[in-house]
Amino acid sequence: MREYPRNLEEFEASFPSEEACRDYLCRIRWPNGFRCARCGSQKAYPIGTVLYQCAKCRYQTSVIAGTIFQDTHKPLRMWFRAIWWVTGQKNGASALGLKRILGLGSYQTAWSWLHKMRTAMVRPGRDRLTGVVEVDESYVGGETSAKRGRGAEGKALVVVAVEDKADKGVGRIRMAVVPDASAESLTPFVQACVQEGSTVRTDGWRGYDKLKSAGYNRIVERKDACVGHKPLKLAHLAISLLKRWLMGTHQGATSHEHLPYYLDEFVFRFNRRTSTHRGLLFLTLLQNSVLGQPLPYKKIVKHVRGPKPKDHYMLGVA
Ligand SMILES: [Zn+2]
Repeated sequence: MREYPRNLEEFEASFPSEEACRDYLCRIRWPNGFRCARCGSQKAYPIGTVLYQCAKCRYQTSVIAGTIFQDTHKPLRMWFRAIWWVTGQKNGASALGLKRILGLGSYQTAWSWLHKMRTAMVRPGRDRLTGVVEVDESYVGGETSAKRGRGAEGKALVVVAVEDKADKGVGRIRMAVVPDASAESLTPFVQACVQEGSTVRTDGWRGYDKLKSAGYNRIVERKDACVGHKPLKLAHLAISLLKRWLMGTHQGATSHEHLPYYLDEFVFRFNRRTSTHRGLLFLTLLQNSVLGQPLPYKKIVKHVRGPKPKDHYMLGVA
């Protein structure tokens, strides 16, 4: 088989059984070959559907331990199908859609699977943005207008960083929920997402005043630069696409508590929007799935049978 399947036909042919899925995961997880954690031997035999036993000391290792598939009671084939389907949804995946496509018995299961996959959309230790990066924040959700720098009832503050590739347009993006628009909240976001020494373009907000001392070359873009000029248009574009996506795919019914997961999915899709290789997205998500830490169900969800009123909000399209 190739490194990844290119279409549905190849996908079906590549993963006809649990063993095929396990062996594929094994190759992704141990690209340089199996190595026993106890004795270092490189020879192992598969036992059952997810276990390998060291040929020398008989130590058993599970290929799904420490991955998002850990503790699953469903076949790996089902997970593979879920990831194939999710990466193929241009506009994002909904729990209801996943439930239907896999024939899952409960919405709850589909919902938690989607959230586990969202956690795998962020690769641990991913590269930071470089070059010229535009940074701005915006309130998402809630019905009333909000004043900058203060908390707003029912709204979440989302900060976005967008690479400006000049003639080549928009590069990669990063997004996060921050508690407020203070320098104490915004500076760590920039430090986590943008390489030091890069140029960061912001407006004149004081929350960005510490970027210079943090090692960035800050450019302040002002509203009145010229008539009809809209400042920070790349950041505004990314934010408005996010709002449209939350309204469209998720009907605006996402909770504050889970918004960071939705941002991860949006960023994953946005940064790969021009990729024509669905199979590569599938492989990327699978690779991240075995790299990341497992997220216990009870940690990601407190209530899935319909959000409580205080968490439920409609997105104001601003
Ligand atoms: Zn061993």
